[in-house]
Amino acid sequence: MPEPNDQPSSPTVRIQARRNRGSVCFRYVLQHSLFVTLVLGLPAMSLSATPPALIRFNLNGHLQTGLELIRIGKESVVIGRDGALHSLDPRDSKEYLGRTKGEYEPLGSAELANRLRREFGDGFEVVATKHFLVVQPKGRGRKWPDLFEKSHQIFVRYMTQRGVHVRRGRFPMVAVVFPDSRSMYREFARLGLDVSRVAGIYSNNTNRVMTHDSGHIQMIVATVRHEAAHQSGFNSGVHSRVNDTPRWVTEGIGQLFEPAAMGNVRAGSDARSRINRESLHQLTKTYGRFDNTTFARDLRRLVIDDRLFDGEPSIGNAYAIAWAMMFYLAEREPQQFASILNHTAGRPAFKTYERHERIADFERIVGGSTADFAKKLAAYLRHLQG
Ligand SMILES: [Zn+2]
Repeated sequence: MPEPNDQPSSPTVRIQARRNRGSVCFRYVLQHSLFVTLVLGLPAMSLSATPPALIRFNLNGHLQTGLELIRIGKESVVIGRDGALHSLDPRDSKEYLGRTKGEYEPLGSAELANRLRREFGDGFEVVATKHFLVVQPKGRGRKWPDLFEKSHQIFVRYMTQRGVHVRRGRFPMVAVVFPDSRSMYREFARLGLDVSRVAGIYSNNTNRVMTHDSGHIQMIVATVRHEAAHQSGFNSGVHSRVNDTPRWVTEGIGQLFEPAAMGNVRAGSDARSRINRESLHQLTKTYGRFDNTTFARDLRRLVIDDRLFDGEPSIGNAYAIAWAMMFYLAEREPQQFASILNHTAGRPAFKTYERHERIADFERIVGGSTADFAKKLAAYLRHLQG
């Protein structure tokens, strides 16, 4: 059994991680090579010329059908009937079985629940809510199902109130609660996820949130709210699962939903309770009262590309600035908040979001340069610092 820190077994996935005061947040994305291939000159038009085809494929001995979203050379991206994304090699005739007739149909809740029961076995139960199938150890009651369902409803209401386009997802969302961290890490290892020191993750490829029901509950629940916001975002069209979305956008949203007040039905009606204290603390530690140019410089870097998220020591600042940008927009400029989300979700699939486009779109939407925006944001943050 490989340890969680082993390299991912699949070459087609990439892990992005943050380490921040002992908690780690992960996003599991399709390998960037797909985007790189497109940049290298494959015209996007030729890709959209072929309508998505229903194909058959073999996954660990299980025959499945799915919709082929894109195929470039040795990589085919397929969405299964359960909503999972798979990266297949079309040259491998054992794995990739070619086109088949019929129409793509997502699995219904009952059918997917049966699959999950088979997958997780006797020690687990599958609890259905309006939007979720929650897999949990038997006899754990409604605590987790209610938490996931409530988080999603709060997310949808928060977005709708600000004019963000929200649609109903095509698949029941799956959340898996393991009895302890050890069994959660065993599952990560099986999936080839290089993860340690986490309370939970949202995996874009499996489209599942995974967490565990032991340890420090406050920390776990804050992480679960963050990861559940990713899952809600990617399943309600607030983000696209096959778009090149800037990470400050997705992680800013994740950070936004971490505070305990965001888990209440009234979604933190007291403005100060909505503040992500951990992020504000991080910003104060790094940028003090925001009176020099490093804050504006880092904010601009975050808009241009995702490299600030790539590792220590910048990753903590990347999450904190992403939170500040989203929090300010959501609280003070909800139209711009909605425009950024609606614009990034509406971009073409599998197309690299170039640096110059990222900056131009941002400055157009917020109506000024990144320097002007950083100045406004700094004044707002000083006000929050008190
Ligand atoms: Zn995250």
